[in-house]
Amino acid sequence: MDRLASFANDPSDKPPCRGCSSYLTEPYIKCAECGPSPFLLCLQCFTRGFEYKKHQSDHKYEIMTSDFPVLEPGWTAQEEMALLEAVMDCGFGNWLVFSSCLVRFPYKLHTHVLIS
Ligand SMILES: [Zn+2]
Ligand SMILES: [Zn+2]
Repeated sequence: MDRLASFANDPSDKPPCRGCSSYLTEPYIKCAECGPSPFLLCLQCFTRGFEYKKHQSDHKYEIMTSDFPVLEPGWTAQEEMALLEAVMDCGFGNWLVFSSCLVRFPYKLHTHVLIS
């Protein structure tokens, strides 16, 4: 459980989710089209398709972690989509379920999500 717990560390001084005002825990979503102040959503709100003022659910986005964006150079679009499909299929708020779903994805993806 230790590596999963790392996601809950350090709420620090990030702004809250625009959707539900909860503290953001990583990974979370940053809209790539809204700005200049960052439009941040937790994964629950993102998967619900939360929209607010200018922000529409079909905006481009980045998946944020503390160290680096999940969308790395060298990742293929297919790998990125596989991750997002895992998000959609498994849901968030239950990392045990989510991580078990990741087993069917490539090892690189698996480690990338769980060890950050
Ligand atoms: Zn939220
Ligand atoms: Zn937006």
